[in-house]
Amino acid sequence: MKFGGTSVATVERIRNVARHVRREVEAGYDVAVVVSAMAGRTNELVGWCKEAAPLYAPSEYDVVVASGEQVTSGLLAIALQNEGLPARSWQGWQVPFRTSDGHGSARIAEVDGAGILAGFEAKREVAVVSGFQGIHAETGRITTLGRGGSDTSAVALAAALKAERCDIYTDVDGVYTTDPRIVPRARRLDRVAFEEMLEMASLGAKVLQVRSVELAMLHQVPTYVRSSFDDPADPKPGTLICDEDDIMEQSVVTGIAFSRDEAQITLRRVADKPGVAAAIFGPLADANVNVDMIIQVVSDDAATTDITFTVPAADYERSRAILEQHRETIGLREVQGATDVVKVSAIGVGMRSHAGVASRAFRALADKGINIRAITTSEIKFSVLIDAAYTELAVRTLHSLYGLDRA
Ligand code: ADP
Ligand code: ASP
Ligand code: MG
Repeated sequence: MKFGGTSVATVERIRNVARHVRREVEAGYDVAVVVSAMAGRTNELVGWCKEAAPLYAPSEYDVVVASGEQVTSGLLAIALQNEGLPARSWQGWQVPFRTSDGHGSARIAEVDGAGILAGFEAKREVAVVSGFQGIHAETGRITTLGRGGSDTSAVALAAALKAERCDIYTDVDGVYTTDPRIVPRARRLDRVAFEEMLEMASLGAKVLQVRSVELAMLHQVPTYVRSSFDDPADPKPGTLICDEDDIMEQSVVTGIAFSRDEAQITLRRVADKPGVAAAIFGPLADANVNVDMIIQVVSDDAATTDITFTVPAADYERSRAILEQHRETIGLREVQGATDVVKVSAIGVGMRSHAGVASRAFRALADKGINIRAITTSEIKFSVLIDAAYTELAVRTLHSLYGLDRA
């Protein structure tokens, strides 16, 4: 069982979490619970690091931000003991969750579930585990898994313990056809295929961290997203993330996702000759900038061309600086950029077997007067880049177009 920040935001809510845990223990399960920090706490801790110094060692950042989860794991263990259940807290380094040394966004290499299993064996002891945390074995230093990383802690632990299920409790009662905060008519999905969930998470649906879905798919962990605000005595259905083959009714489009974390860069009149794309994208790749959409335009004079591409918003300034440094080799003349853009995507495994899914979207967006700046498509998704001002209109338009609105 994993409980996110809003589910453990106060001591009262932590007591409610304890009641959810007790229900599962009484149903006969051995339970490991992964908790996030209280809602807002991690942001506050990140803010303190920035306040202490503009540039700080990532290893010390991890020491600071990992602390939020230590508080909630201890509090939940106390609340469980108060319910009369044997329970203890485990910090990431105690389990341990061995990770890479990529401080701030470390990757899990191995989870050792032996200690937790011994507690189950000896006294049916509930393990309350701090999410988000790991340890780099070689240096012995605390690491964290990147924002939203408790989801990944939970799935990795479920895989290590060979758990029957991994239940992710959050502030919505499942995965919706799109973010219910933006589209009130979004519907809860009973089931979503791993691959679709992976695309939805990668393309902006923050309900699960991308890495957690990768691990769930890799280790075949049935992952169930559900609400912690349900009555612990009478929980409601959520969304099962599972294999495509386990989904009976498949619609062409399953969900709409959007990401505001995009920036557009356009290079005007660069030389149209072999090697130019390499000259532009090589240095960006070397600097770990993740370039996403790319469009090259054939220009009239045939000697030059325009190239447009997107980068994560956080890398925008850095990318422009890198291009300036390589002005000569690229043959750069004019650079334009935009940060007030959003990427809206439609996802569905049904797209594999249906033609014309994306073109219907282009028509519908045009009818609303929304200009498309860039398009990308792949087997089970397509994305359009548009002005940020049209985010809600575009998401709602596509949501209705593909019949996803709740009746
Ligand atoms: P937690 O703190 O429990 O980890 P998050 O805030 O990380 O919770 O994730 C839950 C939020 O994800 C919801 O409140 C919702 O606004 C957002 N969300 C975005 N896209 C979706 C979606 N397709 N389905 C459900 N929730 C979504
Ligand atoms: N507390 C961490 C964060 O806010 C991890 C998590 O909640 O999943 O990013
Ligand atoms: Mg989360």
